[in-house]
Amino acid sequence: MKIAVLPGDGIGTEIVTQAVRVLNALDLAFEMEHAPVGGAAYDLHGHPLPTSTLRLAQAADATLFGAVGDWKYDTLERALRPEQAILGLRKELALFANFRPAICYEALIGASSLKPELVAGLDILIIRELTGDIYFGQPRGRRIAGDGHFPGSQEAFDTMRYSRPEIERIAHVAFQAARKRNQRVTSVDKANVLETFQFWRDVVSDVATHYPDVELEHMYVDNAAMQLVRAPRKFDVVVTGNLFGDILSDEAAMLTGSIGMLPSASLNASNQGLYEPCHGSAPDIAGKNIANPLATILSAAMMLRFSLGQAEAAERVEAAVKSVLKQGLRTTDIFSEGNTLVSTSEMGTAVVKALSQTTSN
Ligand code: NAD
Repeated sequence: MKIAVLPGDGIGTEIVTQAVRVLNALDLAFEMEHAPVGGAAYDLHGHPLPTSTLRLAQAADATLFGAVGDWKYDTLERALRPEQAILGLRKELALFANFRPAICYEALIGASSLKPELVAGLDILIIRELTGDIYFGQPRGRRIAGDGHFPGSQEAFDTMRYSRPEIERIAHVAFQAARKRNQRVTSVDKANVLETFQFWRDVVSDVATHYPDVELEHMYVDNAAMQLVRAPRKFDVVVTGNLFGDILSDEAAMLTGSIGMLPSASLNASNQGLYEPCHGSAPDIAGKNIANPLATILSAAMMLRFSLGQAEAAERVEAAVKSVLKQGLRTTDIFSEGNTLVSTSEMGTAVVKALSQTTSN
């Protein structure tokens, strides 16, 4: 099992170090190799995604990624900015399916912005298509309008498009994921207004015929945005396009309270994946040993499950995270009165310790 470890910038190194400690504590035969990415790679090699780093990720079964970015790179031309490394990896590894679970841990119910009774037991999975839609559709650009409300004026335009195979493969991913959960898929679209998403709805319905055991519901994106804050627990798996998924996955993330708790996975057709926390490099707290490493540790658990075929080890890591939360251990971002404040490395140590207890049970 080959893992490319790309810590990146800011808190990336601190949080990835803890996830690597947890992986090493599992006593599985991993081959882990580190490489620079983002601003760290730009400083060393003049590019946020050097060829050597890309080759390492391509040759690995999975990539564990920290975070990239820092204000000091904001003046670089766009192609050299740290964030381009993520887009480059998505493109080169053909990562088309983004998984973002939003789980509200019992011990953290109070951290959610919603009332406890709405989020208690929340466990939803947002699956976002990652390589198509208006983000990549051509043509796009600026021009002088030939028609419309203001002919002759400057305008900008993008193209929303999805092909049948693109929709089919993400729909299969969603139905298969639902089979391992509560057998429900909500496909989010804007079929009432957009041609692309009427097509999306038709294709998802076609794919659904292969999964008679999974219940399919279609929902307009405006309603989905509302239902996520009104009654989020009624969702199981949500599947949607790149644009709507970008927005809804952030909305769902907030239901759980802290950005420091949210893992993510981006997979290609052969289950090779990039695993990273949903948050960024947090330059404001970098180097202080106070960042929450749990999102990265939970991303490592997703990696064990989806790319490395180690579902049991994944469950052990998730159980260890629940256990440290239950013990009342909290980094600053999730701290509240009555709990024990711990540092990044202390949290890592606690998860490793809890892991050894799950082994002996
Ligand atoms: P951010 O997610 O880095 O930080 C937002 C806030 O959340 C900050 O106050 C930060 O201290 C806090 N935070 C984030 N992760 C935390 C953790 N694990 N524990 C405790 N607190 C945490 O977002 P930002 O400040 O908008 O962006 C900072 C940099 O990160 C930018 O350069 C941005 O481009 C980059 N970024 C990278 C990624 C990525 O690598 N995938 C994603 C988003 C932003």
